[in-house]
Amino acid sequence: MHNSAQQDSTNHNSPFPRLHELSMNVWWSWTPVVRQVFENLDQTVWRQTHHNPVKLLQEVKPERLASLSQDIIFTRQYQAAVKAYDDYMTKTDHWFGTNFPQVAKASIGYFSAEFGLHNSIPIYSGGLGVLAGDHLKEASDLGIPLVGVSFMYSQAYFRQVIGPDGWQQAVNERFDRTSSAIQPAMLPTGKQCQITVQLGNRPVHCLIWFIQVGRILLYLLDTDVEDNQPDDRTLSARLYGGDQRTRLCQEVLLGIGGVRALRSLGIQPRMWHANEGHAAFLNLERMRELLQQGVSYSDAISQIRASSLFTTHTPVPAGHDVFSEDLINQHFSSYWTDMGLSREEFFALGQHPQEHPGQFHMTALAIRLSESVNGVSEEHGRVSRSMWQSMWPDRQEAQVPIHFVTNGVHVPTWIAPEMSHLYSKYLGPNWQDQSDESALWHRVLDIPDHELWEVRKFLKRKLLGFIRQRIQHGWTHGRLEAQQVLAGGALLNPYALTIGFGRRFATYKRANLLFYYPDRLKALLQNPWQPVQFIFAGKAHPADKPGQELIHEVYQFAKQHGFGGHITFLEDYDMHVAKFLVQGVDVWLNNPRPPLEASGTSGQKAALNGVPNLSVLDGWWKEGYDGSNGWAFPQATEGLEETAQDQHDAESLLHLLEKEVIPLYYQRDQDGIPHGWVKIVKNAIRTNAPRFSARRMLKDYVQQFYIVDHTRTHAEPSLERVR
Ligand SMILES: *Cc1c(COP(=O)(O)O)cnc(C)c1O
Repeated sequence: MHNSAQQDSTNHNSPFPRLHELSMNVWWSWTPVVRQVFENLDQTVWRQTHHNPVKLLQEVKPERLASLSQDIIFTRQYQAAVKAYDDYMTKTDHWFGTNFPQVAKASIGYFSAEFGLHNSIPIYSGGLGVLAGDHLKEASDLGIPLVGVSFMYSQAYFRQVIGPDGWQQAVNERFDRTSSAIQPAMLPTGKQCQITVQLGNRPVHCLIWFIQVGRILLYLLDTDVEDNQPDDRTLSARLYGGDQRTRLCQEVLLGIGGVRALRSLGIQPRMWHANEGHAAFLNLERMRELLQQGVSYSDAISQIRASSLFTTHTPVPAGHDVFSEDLINQHFSSYWTDMGLSREEFFALGQHPQEHPGQFHMTALAIRLSESVNGVSEEHGRVSRSMWQSMWPDRQEAQVPIHFVTNGVHVPTWIAPEMSHLYSKYLGPNWQDQSDESALWHRVLDIPDHELWEVRKFLKRKLLGFIRQRIQHGWTHGRLEAQQVLAGGALLNPYALTIGFGRRFATYKRANLLFYYPDRLKALLQNPWQPVQFIFAGKAHPADKPGQELIHEVYQFAKQHGFGGHITFLEDYDMHVAKFLVQGVDVWLNNPRPPLEASGTSGQKAALNGVPNLSVLDGWWKEGYDGSNGWAFPQATEGLEETAQDQHDAESLLHLLEKEVIPLYYQRDQDGIPHGWVKIVKNAIRTNAPRFSARRMLKDYVQQFYIVDHTRTHAEPSLERVR
């Protein structure tokens, strides 16, 4: 309340009354005309607030606003931004409305434990969240009637600091909601929406907030409510924090509480999409509703299944939540009674057909209660069919009804402004509206090599400038020691071939593969004629000790004299850092242990910006690689044990670098431009940008799953029924 009173007064006095409204819709973050207004409002405060327009407006001096009101150029920019916003918000001829006029109002509920929208809203940890954020943004652009559901985490996901010894330190900061685009979700009664969920023997209350993402609303649950017991108040404080009990409680809140929140707000989705198993309880809650209305058990199951989509994201078994019998007994005994189920019937819903007897498996639950299930790349679809074949005991693996929609990235979010200008010039000013059309991208071949090469060089300098600024800041404030300044990138060379590796430090991603043969690597790095350098970035979950050891290992190389400052570790990988990295390096390296990378999306962001991938044939790259648009590791023989596979892949990596990547980069023609290299850059853009765009992904979701053709008969006996 305090906040909105403050807004009102600023609005009345402000010469730019709609700035606040613009700052409260994350749409600004992918719309250069609006972004520019905030940046020009006060460049220093813009930088100091880490590009947070809400905070910027709270901190900008009134004198500054007064002087800008006399500035014709700024005033015009502001007016153009407001007009663009009004046009966007009232547009009706978008893709969805045009193609599906009969269902234009039916909504899709999209549930995810994290959403990566912008750094100023730190409610995400990594790939899953960024994908969910991109999903919302693209749904908004296409006019898809979707609503998101997640948490209002009061603690930001941790910030990473690497100590001089190379160990990751996790710094926790409170997330100040009042300086972000989060607003209370109000009921017609004038009160903020609040729902209650029973956890064991006590009620837990959640306040509901929302974020406006273009035309889409993302609702957030928050247990920091006075009536709650102290422990419950912090239940929604941290993303993936705490023990199994906390995790179970969070998932109950997300699934069951999320459905109640939408009901309470009067939103009735026709389709319910669980992004990963964390949200699977949403289907239980909908089943409870039906059973309590007197619908029969089998009808309830059919109805729930017909309106549910479940997207699974990981082939790593530990990535699937399984809860113990005790925990479920403690939290669900009154719930299954409410549903009219026996204990056995309830447990049967979450039973893994072969493993974890007696426990409750979230993926099994999600699969049982969703007719539509998909993996996130063609390969991951195949792996998931094999992983879950036992749920369809009478089907061959190939007949298991798990499909795939390959992930894609939201182009306006991930494109560098300089590349965007180039595409506007050669693909046409409206290229972003057709970013999934392959024919359009053929025009990339028309871009003169020297223009593309200039932009690529500029983006690398921009990345190095960003890195230098950060370490300089750390040095000036006495936070960094000299060797951290070096390991952090002070010696990076803007003319050297620069290879980027940015991802979560989970062991299967094998961040240390490059160092398998250190002497051979050293020889490469020390070659004065063809300099090469690597930039690593990524966090390890605070509970993941092996992941932290990997960071430590890479950091030791970054500090060694022998590697000459050619290995750098960039702290605190997040969306902001990711943008600079995927736009600024020359090559994007990806070497997970196949087939454990379900899709991967950072390489798609890189390709969009003209950064070719050097990657294991896994996840999306298995579909993306065509021999002309980057590099792929030769496949290791199937069934190789881990060390032998690492050895094989490390050998392939060095071989590719030595024989192909480095020589091609340095093969300059008389005009100083590596035309052979630029050709690969163009192919990377032309072939990958349209296919791995979120636009293509969202259209796939709509056409395959969101718009269910109810005339289609589901003759699928599919699942062994639990009753
Ligand atoms: C895109 C992105 C990811 C996902 O990258 P992967 O290729 O899936 O490893 C993770 N974190 C951030 C900050 C990102 O922007």
